Amino acid sequence: MTNVQTTPGNPLDLPVWVEPDPMPVAGCAHCDNVAMERDRARANGDASGRSDCNVRMRRHHTADH
Ligand SMILES: [Zn+2]
Repeated sequence: MTNVQTTPGNPLDLPVWVEPDPMPVAGCAHCDNVAMERDRARANGDASGRSDCNVRMRRHHTADH
């Protein structure tokens, strides 16, 4: 009889990695708007909305700053 593993292997031990939120650039209305939406999402416990805002702000930073 062969030694066949019939149970799943050990779970992967992934590091907890939390990227810091991008900061709004002072004086930029678009940054302010996204930051306000992000604050609202955070206050409502909306992690998905907060993440969306972070993506939008990073794209905006890359494109416009
Ligand atoms: Zn900006």
